Amino acid sequence: MDKNTAKNRIDVLIELLNKYSRLYYTQDISEVSDYEYDLLYSELKSLEEKYPSLIREDSPTKRVGDKVLNSFEQHTHKNRLYSLDNTYSYDELRHWYKKICDEFQKNDIELVAELKIDGLAVSLIYENSLLKVGSTRGNGVVGENITANIRAINAIPLSLSEKGVSVDVRGEVYMPYKSFNKLNETAKLKEQKIFANPRNAAAGTLRQLDSKIVASRGLSMFSYAAIFDDEKVQPKTHFDTLKLLAKYGLVTNPNTRLCKNVEEVIDFCVEFETKRFELDYATDGVVVKVNDFAIQNALGYTAKSPKWATAFKFPPEEMTTKLLRIENSVGKTGAITPVAILEPVSLGGSIVKRASLHNYDEVKRLGVMIGDYVRIKKAAEIIPKVVQVEIQKRDGTQTPIEPPKECPICHSSLVIPEGEVNLYCSNKESCEAQTEAKIQFFVSKNAVDIDGIGSQLVKTLLETGLIRDEADIFALTKEDLLGLEGFQEKSASNIIGSIQKAKTPALSSFLTGLNIKHVGKETAELITNNFDTLEAIKCASVGELSSIDGLGDKIAIAVVDWFNEPSNIKLLEKFKLLGVEPQKPEKSVVSDKLAGKTFVITGTLSKPRADFEKIIKSMGAKTSSAVSKNTSYVLAGDSPGSKLLKAQTLGVKILNEDEFFVLTSDIVNFDDTNS
Ligand code: NAD
Repeated sequence: MDKNTAKNRIDVLIELLNKYSRLYYTQDISEVSDYEYDLLYSELKSLEEKYPSLIREDSPTKRVGDKVLNSFEQHTHKNRLYSLDNTYSYDELRHWYKKICDEFQKNDIELVAELKIDGLAVSLIYENSLLKVGSTRGNGVVGENITANIRAINAIPLSLSEKGVSVDVRGEVYMPYKSFNKLNETAKLKEQKIFANPRNAAAGTLRQLDSKIVASRGLSMFSYAAIFDDEKVQPKTHFDTLKLLAKYGLVTNPNTRLCKNVEEVIDFCVEFETKRFELDYATDGVVVKVNDFAIQNALGYTAKSPKWATAFKFPPEEMTTKLLRIENSVGKTGAITPVAILEPVSLGGSIVKRASLHNYDEVKRLGVMIGDYVRIKKAAEIIPKVVQVEIQKRDGTQTPIEPPKECPICHSSLVIPEGEVNLYCSNKESCEAQTEAKIQFFVSKNAVDIDGIGSQLVKTLLETGLIRDEADIFALTKEDLLGLEGFQEKSASNIIGSIQKAKTPALSSFLTGLNIKHVGKETAELITNNFDTLEAIKCASVGELSSIDGLGDKIAIAVVDWFNEPSNIKLLEKFKLLGVEPQKPEKSVVSDKLAGKTFVITGTLSKPRADFEKIIKSMGAKTSSAVSKNTSYVLAGDSPGSKLLKAQTLGVKILNEDEFFVLTSDIVNFDDTNS
């Protein structure tokens, strides 16, 4: 790039970055993702490195980054607060490390890897062990005095446990997911502003002028640095400083590791790329610091950040890409789901080309159009979803998304059942898309679970005419399979073996697999808890079914309708003829201490939910997915959802994992149920 073009580009970048920063720091608005901001920033940095004469006074590379707000008194920091350089690449991290090792002519230099907490940097001044001032980073030199708010955070001690210590403690104030979810749930109920992420929520909270509000929002803090007035008290290394802070009663992050070299740091980063989703706080990377203060001091600082530290940022969970067109997929119930076909983009380690838009109500809610740039997100979910439209990127070429007028596969008319928002294909009997989705569900782990039959094989079996419905699977022979491409004696025998095994499925799995409207795994279990055979369910009346606790009229009617439908009667006869006999397993109730009780599980637990469900059922109790006044207990793990709030509102007893084990300890433990 020649100098003139570089100058123009630098001007554009500074304009953009300064605008984004202003919005981000003063109004908690992110017009672009952090990843995109960082890309623009690093582009600016490399242009400035190439053409130092073009560096502008107001370049964001020349400042820590944010504005000082006016609502609080300003506070001039005792010691400057810096930002951090960052990278998204392990090779750049290795390069940063090698440069330091080379400078000190060492093979290895100890590093400390610690989680980068996604919150707000604060400085806490303790004089003679008493908390005197708490302040935000501001522009690094001057911040806001937020002492009253800092004092409202329980994790911050008002005095240190050791006497006579004067120190400037650095840490990150953050909002745990538990508090964040609660805050947003309450805001939703009161139709107030919803915070986009815990960082915004923490920033918005610390900006409150009423510290009682701060106290009620459950903020917390991890301390990660300290500068002592008395140099003699200052440990020789960063790791020892963290230990000392913990000894003084400050909270330090347990996910911190002393590493011999950069490869050990990379191991830590890889480990936490996935482990971070189990934590109760947001973290966007790993901060890597040289452990030895002597080396830190020799390395010093750039205008903005220390040279002895850098942040490895985790791959972004959100990206912006262009929505090219809409494809309508038809599910097993005939529901039409609009799927966004995207310009391929790398997100969370894979290339994303499609994202779900759920239904046309969601399309309307998002206001999304074809040709729009959309923000897509992939966190714990496998299928990414469209979370936002970047309206400011519209250029007039966008066109509206119209709901389809007919089924995209069988061209039948579409219907919206009363009380629903989804469009459905009206052709229940012969829509190929529905048939395929139904069979795929029937053989899946969620239903009858026939080992070896996946979605591709179902497709092939339908295309070759070997099956036309779920029951036909049980008529397949080894020869049928050997006639298909890619099948050999052994693979064909294995599948026939799995099919034979599946001829006596658990009654509830079989019922789930029948694709009865509103009857998922949980409802199927409720029904089979009350009826012993398929025949009995078939003969049950609406009254009998709706008297089952947790079922209701809507489901009861759907079940009776399904069993009365001639095509379904034929399907059941076919299953019978082919020797399929659903069985009700012996009850494995080991105690009836909790008979009649209903549990609802929410949040992340230390073991899979299925393990807890097993214990609950083994005690004669049942589980449900929704909290109501009939719920006996809510078992709440980390980051619980709206169910917790509902339970609190209804006064339902809430148990954490420990309390759950106390309740069940005399009956059963995990090892018993797993064996
Ligand atoms: P940063 O958040 O990338 O990193 C520095 C901060 O990390 C420190 O100030 C501290 O608060 C925090 N931190 C957390 N854990 C830490 C630990 N264990 N040790 C040390 N520090 C720790 O940098 P920044 O200057 O606060 O913000 C700049 C970043 O903000 C950009 O890189 C970008 O990702 C984002 N940003 C985004 C937009 C946007 O519009 N999306 C705008 C401006 C800035």
